[in-house]
Amino acid sequence: MKLSEFYKSFPDESTCAHILKCIREAQGVICKKCGNIEHYWKKDKKSFECKECNYRTSLKNGTIIEHSNLPLKYWLSTIAYINIINEKISALQLQKELGHNRYEPIWLMLKKIKNSSKTDNLLHKISDYIQINKTEIRYINKKNL
Ligand SMILES: [Zn+2]
Repeated sequence: MKLSEFYKSFPDESTCAHILKCIREAQGVICKKCGNIEHYWKKDKKSFECKECNYRTSLKNGTIIEHSNLPLKYWLSTIAYINIINEKISALQLQKELGHNRYEPIWLMLKKIKNSSKTDNLLHKISDYIQINKTEIRYINKKNL
């Protein structure tokens, strides 16, 4: 099974953002400034806003995706591939499969995913959103985890 098949199973960036939001809500967002756990979802800012101090936490804040400008599709499909198929992939191969023109950001993404794989439960949650059989991978539209 190829990574490109995983890539196709995540339809677009807004779907990926929705998946990420659900995962973060399931894990619980903690305010960096005051430690509060209750947040509003600010749809226009694509951020969580602390109910106590109004500090905003973006979807990427505090995750391995923070500081990356790569599409969420890249991240989610690569994480799902590595986590579910449990196969090794080189950065060069990954770059080719994703069709990205630069090697370095892909290499960095893969490194971060590999370094986080044992501790970051974001990895596990993504598998709740896709369904695999021998020939195809499907995105499952779940409202809540
Ligand atoms: Zn706060």
